[in-house]
Amino acid sequence: MDNCIFCKIAAKQIPAGVVYEDDELLAFKDINPAAPVHLLIIPKQHVATLSDCTDAHAAVLGKMLALAPKLAAEHGISVKQGPDGQRSGGFKTLVNSGPDGGQEVYHLHLHVYGGKRPWRGLG
Ligand code: C5P
Repeated sequence: MDNCIFCKIAAKQIPAGVVYEDDELLAFKDINPAAPVHLLIIPKQHVATLSDCTDAHAAVLGKMLALAPKLAAEHGISVKQGPDGQRSGGFKTLVNSGPDGGQEVYHLHLHVYGGKRPWRGLG
């Protein structure tokens, strides 16, 4: 889509710190990270916001979510479980939707945050 910054990143017209790519998805490092690890997962095909998604987007939405723990593992922020069952590590996933949801870029994206806390502006 014209004038969409994430479409331009997906089309390699704008550089980004790409960490994953396949036919449908791209993942890259957030340019202004709010946590030690802050990645964005986007569909290559433009859809502005979660409210514009239909049942036709269910598969790509599922792929986006399924990619998050794989990228988390590659970036050292997996949920780990010790022999005593105690969990450590972990990450946050977030989709901001619309002005009241804090969305600034109108190309659907899944944030993946992790690393040592505290993180800027995140609970
Ligand atoms: O969810 P929201 O729309 O608020 O987040 C947009 C995110 O896109 C911000 O975290 C911003 O830093 C990131 N961004 C980026 N590269 C750009 C433009 C924005 O990583 N060129």
